Amino acid sequence: MYLYNSATHKKEEFKTHTPGRVEMYTCGPTVYHFAHIGNLRSYIMEDVLEKYLRFAGYDVNRVMNITDVGHLSSDADTGEDKMLKGAKRENKTVLDIAKFYTDAFFDDCRKLNIKTPDVVQPATGCVEEYIKIITRLMDTGYAYFAGGNVYFDTSRLSRYYIFNDHDEDDLAVGVREGVEEDANKRNKNDFVLWFTKSKFEDQALKWDSPWGVGYPGWHIECSGISMKYNGEFLDLHCGGVDNAFPHHTNEIAQSESYLGHPWCPHWFHVHHLNDPAGKMSKSKGEFLTVSLLEKKGYDPLAYRWFCLQSHYRKTLLFTWENLDNAAAAYNKLLNRIASLKPEDSDVDQTVFEEYKAKFIQQVGNDLNTSMAVTAVFDALKAKTGDATRLAIIGEFDKVLSLSLLEKAAAIREKAAQATTAGGGDYVVTGEGDPAIDALVLQRYEAKKAKNFAEADRIRDELKAQGVEITDIKGGASWKRV
Ligand code: AMP
Ligand code: ZN
Repeated sequence: MYLYNSATHKKEEFKTHTPGRVEMYTCGPTVYHFAHIGNLRSYIMEDVLEKYLRFAGYDVNRVMNITDVGHLSSDADTGEDKMLKGAKRENKTVLDIAKFYTDAFFDDCRKLNIKTPDVVQPATGCVEEYIKIITRLMDTGYAYFAGGNVYFDTSRLSRYYIFNDHDEDDLAVGVREGVEEDANKRNKNDFVLWFTKSKFEDQALKWDSPWGVGYPGWHIECSGISMKYNGEFLDLHCGGVDNAFPHHTNEIAQSESYLGHPWCPHWFHVHHLNDPAGKMSKSKGEFLTVSLLEKKGYDPLAYRWFCLQSHYRKTLLFTWENLDNAAAAYNKLLNRIASLKPEDSDVDQTVFEEYKAKFIQQVGNDLNTSMAVTAVFDALKAKTGDATRLAIIGEFDKVLSLSLLEKAAAIREKAAQATTAGGGDYVVTGEGDPAIDALVLQRYEAKKAKNFAEADRIRDELKAQGVEITDIKGGASWKRV
């Protein structure tokens, strides 16, 4: 696979420390609120990456943290702990908030067909790891104690790594959101490894440590959790692009100073989903969630489709119109798959393997997900039987996870039920779309039962899909206009 690496600023052949095995780490959510659909864009793209790697034959160990302590409202260690903010907002304990929003996050993931990583570790469960790392950093002079906190000393590094897309101006992150800079820092990029009294007044969760009772900083959790479950050589680290600096920069600084050798060669950053008002944020009051999409009648997988159609390294603009277009295209594809007739033929293994090899090669070009979607349309047109087409589509869906075969089968099933309901006395002919056939039959059934309101509703639904019905003797025929 060729993958863009934001650490080297170029597309590279993806290589791993142990051939055939990928140690993969993903920065997980901060569970003080629901995930917005921007956060979930990152998790969808990382999910496709993991599934692609497995599909291409790698053995993958994927680890993710859950941030339930230490992430302050500014990424540069100032402001309030986000978890505490959530607890105050809802008048609950930090633990209740963490549990509720962790469950909500995995509910959203399930709806979006995002697989749960092999290891999911809440940050509060690994404090011993952080203390072990910080102790060595103190012993070797990479960390210092000031004003009650332990800081990483970035002046000890020959190079404090800054990813591409970031320059010196971004280092002013400490003054973002109008928050004061921390006067204890010796250098402006130094960051907190362990908090005690200076930030401590209200902190609900605290642990004993060699530097006093306190709690870990945000960055140390990812290094600690990754080293515990991925080992000392990580192959692939993922996150949204806003994590690149300072979070990932700081992860590299502390991990490599602790280990004494390079830690993770490959960095994968997903660019943001923006709404027309700008960057999405959980702290902005009302924000877009999967539940809101559902409430408005969208299938969450139509959102997954929307994300897959664009490249992960491009900013993606969310509008309802864009989502409507994606939902219509997704439904159209499902209906086309539903019209395939698997009983027509056997699977042609040669064609199947040929399509699979092409898919691995095309999608392996920097995770080209729009090409992966196009590959499904190509499979529909393949010069072969329907059974082979369906087998190819099912195979591609191991990476896409759009439930293509399941949803197409449900459409077929609904159509079959509707035909039975018609009792065979009413024949629908059209353009070979079982979902439309079913609606036309349902309209007939409604009229027969004198449920004219329902019949009109179905007629309007068909009209909205551009379908025109003509009553003919013994049934109806339809066409798209
Ligand atoms: P958080 O819960 O704030 O720690 O963020 C969870 C993940 O979502 C991180 O990987 C972020 O980098 C990512 N993220 C945050 N905002 C966006 C956005 N608008 N679009 C895509 N990813 C985002
Ligand atoms: Zn992280």
